[in-house]
Amino acid sequence: MSAKIRLYVDQPLGQGQSVELTREQARYLFGVMRLSVGGTVALFNGEDGEWLAEVAEAGKRGGVLSCMEQIKPLQLPPDLWLLFAPIKKARTDFIVEKATEMGAARILPVQTEFTNSERIRQDRLQAHAVEAAEQCGGTYVPEVADLQRLERVLDTWPEGRNLMFCDEAEVGSALRLAANEKGQPWAILIGPEGGFSNKERARLNSLPYAHVASLGPRILRADTAAVAALTMWQQALGDWS
Ligand code: SAH
Repeated sequence: MSAKIRLYVDQPLGQGQSVELTREQARYLFGVMRLSVGGTVALFNGEDGEWLAEVAEAGKRGGVLSCMEQIKPLQLPPDLWLLFAPIKKARTDFIVEKATEMGAARILPVQTEFTNSERIRQDRLQAHAVEAAEQCGGTYVPEVADLQRLERVLDTWPEGRNLMFCDEAEVGSALRLAANEKGQPWAILIGPEGGFSNKERARLNSLPYAHVASLGPRILRADTAAVAALTMWQQALGDWS
């Protein structure tokens, strides 16, 4: 038996487990998708893999699903973070959606000196990550952190994590990511529309764990740069092979 609808739920999943639906989930499953008692849904919660569940109760404002069998084990992405400076709303949404599909484990919006936007709606961005995971078949949802200053993130940088620092000023310095370094924790850093300040660049270039990377001779928009960098990293060190 298979289910066409995939739904993220913030509840434990397991054999025979009942899952209470929120009003919004009930509206989606029974109102929009026209599911009724006996219908099936695939559920995941980011921890317990994917489960086939059957509708046990369907109401206007709620409902209950019952887990039947695990159909996919939990598949964790590689230990890769994406740090990016938020840009216009639609492009920021795009970055979160693409980073989720591309297999980033954690998404960290960072405020740099030339960052255009001072605020983000963390809850909205997290919802975008959930939606992207639902549609791409992932069993994991990356956490979207709150906006933090880049300086502060670097001050508290975890030991042993490499940083791929994408700098448009470094044309020609292609980063060679060697496959024998597979398994190490990494992060990718993408700057804002205004690029990095000289002070930021100086600090980033002095960090022993930072590896400067060029994404070619053309200046990419931050959203394009994020997808390009994720592709490059996944191809060399990630879970594509
Ligand atoms: N304002 C800058 C461009 C910033 S592009 C300028 O006009 O020079 C936004 C971000 O995308 C950059 O900070 C960088 O992280 C990344 N980026 C864009 N093109 C790149 C390239 N060719 N190589 C490396 N990083 C790039």
